[in-house]
Amino acid sequence: MSERKSAKRLDVVVIGAGFAGLYALHRLRKDGYSVRVLEAGKSIGGTWYWNRYPGARCDIESMQYSYSFSDEIQREWKWSQLYAPQPEILSYINFVADKLDLRRDIQLETRVVAATFDEQSRTWKVRTEAGEAFEAPFCVMATGCLSVPIVPTFPGMEKFEGEVYRTSDWPHEGVQLKGKRVGLVGTGSSGIQVTPVLAEQAEHLYVFQRTPNYSIPALNRPMDEEYEQAWKQNYPERRKAALATRINALSDFGTVPGSSVSYEEREREFERRWTKVGGFGFVHGYTDIMTDPAVNAHASEFVRKKIAALVHDPEVAKKLMPSDYGIGGKRICVDTAYFETFNRNNVTLIDVKSDPIRSFKPNGLSTQTQSFELDTVILAIGFDAITGALLKIDITGRDGLKLRDRWADGPKNYIGMAVSGFPNMFMITGPGSPSVFTNMVASIEQHVDWIADCIAHLKRKGVSSIEALPEAEEKWVSHVNEVANATLMPKGNSWYVGANIPGKPRVFMPYLAGAHVYKKAIEDVASKDYEGFGLA
Ligand code: NAP
Repeated sequence: MSERKSAKRLDVVVIGAGFAGLYALHRLRKDGYSVRVLEAGKSIGGTWYWNRYPGARCDIESMQYSYSFSDEIQREWKWSQLYAPQPEILSYINFVADKLDLRRDIQLETRVVAATFDEQSRTWKVRTEAGEAFEAPFCVMATGCLSVPIVPTFPGMEKFEGEVYRTSDWPHEGVQLKGKRVGLVGTGSSGIQVTPVLAEQAEHLYVFQRTPNYSIPALNRPMDEEYEQAWKQNYPERRKAALATRINALSDFGTVPGSSVSYEEREREFERRWTKVGGFGFVHGYTDIMTDPAVNAHASEFVRKKIAALVHDPEVAKKLMPSDYGIGGKRICVDTAYFETFNRNNVTLIDVKSDPIRSFKPNGLSTQTQSFELDTVILAIGFDAITGALLKIDITGRDGLKLRDRWADGPKNYIGMAVSGFPNMFMITGPGSPSVFTNMVASIEQHVDWIADCIAHLKRKGVSSIEALPEAEEKWVSHVNEVANATLMPKGNSWYVGANIPGKPRVFMPYLAGAHVYKKAIEDVASKDYEGFGLA
């Protein structure tokens, strides 16, 4: 155990230097507070620092998946493609950090292991892995929704003599795959993005798929100059309009329910969206696509027909078709030539639902019935989503209450930013907020601004602590559940409900009423003197 040093005192401690932590630092520093950002990684960027696998790119258009708080920055930065690849997003984050001189208040390679609220001094005491201590009245958890990768537990993995990589912490120097027999485990968003690139590099690629996913072509393309200029010249209005949508982003939203039009009309609309709009825009056509079983079934069937048309071998196509849940029941994927990749001679799909991976061996892995010789295994098996990063830290609130105990049956929270029993601790894009169903950068800015305004309010009123009231929390959690249960989305075994982590309580974590509804809810709370919170 390292030596304990005396605690550094600050106004606000921020944990995490991704999009959220960086903007929190900028905004709170601008408001006059002393702030320190503690970041486990060797550099800034969070999700975009770690997930540097080939093919990684954003699923929201870059003109929108970017900070809006500085008109100078949004006009100055130039995106090369409609959907920026990971290296470009990381360069952008670094550009912003330099431009705003953020680095001087960011401490890298500093993993926070514990945060404890001291009631007497009303301060959070934050401890790092190296034994360093920080104290501040406010603690902001900018720890990310998808930042704790699942640790694989395949039997015999230690015996495998080849190389094993995870998409979630891909080596910085890259990976040489030429002439290699590569096994990819996992076909979620990461697996679907990396597959076409691996297929181009590997001698042979074996894709081990447990559950097929609905994936929509991104229709990514180089940035069109005119399109970019239209955004840059109209940024303030467009950003404002984006915040009035349910995903904090502009899209080609339909305004009528799919149930109000004929099957043929829906079919034409799905076709237009598949070929001309792409990405998540495919499901934005009708207002009831996630609530009306018949409309959802039609959209799901449409995707299956596309898979059948794209994949030459009908048996492979069938395996790639999701059949036991509807579109949206798991996170919809967005791809560039994913299904087409299975037409290559050097790509084999293995269905590990019917024939699960049994164990690794020195030169590959075995399923129940087959054996595969592999040089390299790539794991794209997902994350302990939304609550994982928070629960990894030993967080203790008032009266010695542990967040791990408080959340034993699911993440109780108030408006996705606070937890009763944990005063002055704020979560950015926490459970109970729209988070992963929105343009994350916009939702992050919204949370940071709300939190900074809240701290300013406390200062003005001369009070030093704010805490969610249990009854307000209870009401919010029931509301979040009620909204989710009115949709078809909790039905899938997705990470939204924690189904990918054995033993995780099955609770639909994000708030589904829409970002615009949520915006009004949190603005109302603030305007009513922080209704639902106790101020002391
Ligand atoms: P994921 O969606 O959770 O996918 C994990 C995959 O690994 C699933 O196919 C899962 O199968 C499989 N898997 C897990 N354990 C397995 C096992 N023991 N044997 C066989 N297969 C196993 O994880 P992800 O692809 O990393 O994506 C997570 C989220 O990150 C996405 O949903 C998205 O929100 C975000 N993301 C975004 C982007 C983007 O914006 N472009 C890119 C990547 C990721 P089951 O489905 O059967 O569990």
